[in-house]
Amino acid sequence: MKIIMLGAPGAGKGTQAKQIASKYSIPHISTGDIFRANIKNGTELGKKAKSYMDQGLLVPDELTCDLVVDRISQDDAAAGYVLDGFPRTIPQAEALTEALNKRGEKIDYAINVEVPDENIVNRMSGRRACLGCGATYHVVFNAPKKEGICDSCGGELVLRDDDKPETVQKRLNVYHEQTQPLIEYYGKADALAEVDGTQDIDVVFSDIIKILGE
Ligand code: ADP
Ligand code: ADP
Ligand code: ZN
Repeated sequence: MKIIMLGAPGAGKGTQAKQIASKYSIPHISTGDIFRANIKNGTELGKKAKSYMDQGLLVPDELTCDLVVDRISQDDAAAGYVLDGFPRTIPQAEALTEALNKRGEKIDYAINVEVPDENIVNRMSGRRACLGCGATYHVVFNAPKKEGICDSCGGELVLRDDDKPETVQKRLNVYHEQTQPLIEYYGKADALAEVDGTQDIDVVFSDIIKILGE
């Protein structure tokens, strides 16, 4: 099963993608996590990506598409995957479609997690991210068992620099301009499914299971 998560920054894509990956035993592939791991390890890619991410801008397609196409070609992705944060532009979607076409494959579901902009800024200021394993929490809606510590790996939880309100507003603008057109793109490809992302986390997940099947 090949799945894409669509939705604004903070809509809950990562939260749901992790649960999908676990239930259906497929890898969760997050481009944001891949870039953050590269930044942490001080790679060339990390250095290039950081300047864009800090400004709330997208990392250029040239640095992003090949990376994802390589990742989904690995053995653990043979039976499917859930892509979180990719594609984010029409050229990225076209690159993905083309790479899949070559192998006679296609995306089965593009799940759009819908959350209005008004809800997003609040969510982001309460988001805490684990730089160790990519898990995300929320100080109110999804608190870790121990404040500041990741339940899964014991890593330290941080407020991401790009989750500060000024940057979030910019990321929302970028989302509307560059990423939202993908809803129509995957609608035309007959892969689009929509869920109401303002509901509780477990309700959103049960709506997703209804779409993907038990
Ligand atoms: P969120 O899930 O909150 O939107 P991500 O972790 O997916 O955040 O992404 C963080 C940042 O990483 C983005 O703002 C962008 O700068 C960069 N990024 C992640 N995925 C992509 C992508 N597919 N194309 C370009 N930039 C990306
Ligand atoms: P995305 O990957 O789309 O950027 P996340 O999954 O990281 O979004 O979620 C953003 C923030 O909102 C996190 O702090 C997360 O714990 C919280 N969150 C996710 N889903 C919900 C929900 N349905 N209701 C309330 N808060 C949520
Ligand atoms: Zn962790």
